[in-house]
Amino acid sequence: MEAEALQKEALAAAEAAQTLAQLDEARVQYLGRSSELKLALREVRDRETGMALNAVREALEAAFAARQSELERAELSARLTTERVDVTLPAELLGDVRVRPRGSLHPTTLIRRDVEDAFIGLGYEIREDREIETVEYNFDKLAFPAWHPARSSRDTFYVDADTVLRTETSPSQIHILEEKPPPVYMVSIGRVYRRDAITPTRFPIFHQFEGLAIDRGITMADLKGTLLHVMRALFGEEREVRFRTHYFPFTEPSMEPDVSCGVCGGSGCPTCKWSGWIEIGGSGMVDPQVLANVGLDPGEWGGFAFGLGLERAAQLRYDIPTIRPFWENDLRFVRQFR
Ligand SMILES: [Zn+2]
Repeated sequence: MEAEALQKEALAAAEAAQTLAQLDEARVQYLGRSSELKLALREVRDRETGMALNAVREALEAAFAARQSELERAELSARLTTERVDVTLPAELLGDVRVRPRGSLHPTTLIRRDVEDAFIGLGYEIREDREIETVEYNFDKLAFPAWHPARSSRDTFYVDADTVLRTETSPSQIHILEEKPPPVYMVSIGRVYRRDAITPTRFPIFHQFEGLAIDRGITMADLKGTLLHVMRALFGEEREVRFRTHYFPFTEPSMEPDVSCGVCGGSGCPTCKWSGWIEIGGSGMVDPQVLANVGLDPGEWGGFAFGLGLERAAQLRYDIPTIRPFWENDLRFVRQFR
């Protein structure tokens, strides 16, 4: 059937549905896995047809969603007029109403909220960007050299030759600098993907938070002060931060920040491998080339960036020895963090 005729017929069916059950039936027929549209989408060989069919799919999904909320409202108001509830009865006695068990937040969510609070308190804006990213934004514009191992398909999930599952939240740096002029103070939080085998310390998906400050006259002291503030907000007022030099493509100089060990207070213990310090991520002053890539004059503007893992931070805060339980959906694990 022509796409246009199909769309017309499906829209009419959505409009004709008088109950949610009828609407569901129509939805399966026109948008379901074996619907004509889905089968056609699977067969698409050229971009134009693909775009046309996707436009039809989007229009139908929107129409079905709109009709669904109409029907839901209608069914609710019908129920409110026909059913009377004695509000003085205890909840257990009310037909299908049950006392629901109380849930708890995932430790990643808990630490994420604390990170957001700490940075909002410093005047940063919080943003979430896309998880499927172009090679251009994930590597090129961040000054990853051509030889960098992260570009290899052994380290990174490629969707196609130009598209990857983002390997860090750093593309947000470019997005925000292209969207608006500095000064910029932002933290990007979200999932990132690496082609790692699952081990006690590594998992192919994890969360990062990434900060960027661009302004006039920013120095390394600002970076250190910011990280110290956030580490103390997350791990306690007595924590200290130190820097070790390192290499990252988009910062120069680059530094790995360490936070003092909370178990031994810095005197040395198995948790910190007897060093008194625990590695927490990467940081550095933004490479002038990255600024030039987004059209800023490196002579006028400077800044710092840092990236840390949320699970890693939660592990430190809650003393969780491995990363695996974060992704196992085991309620016994999650319930410990009420
Ligand atoms: Zn220690």
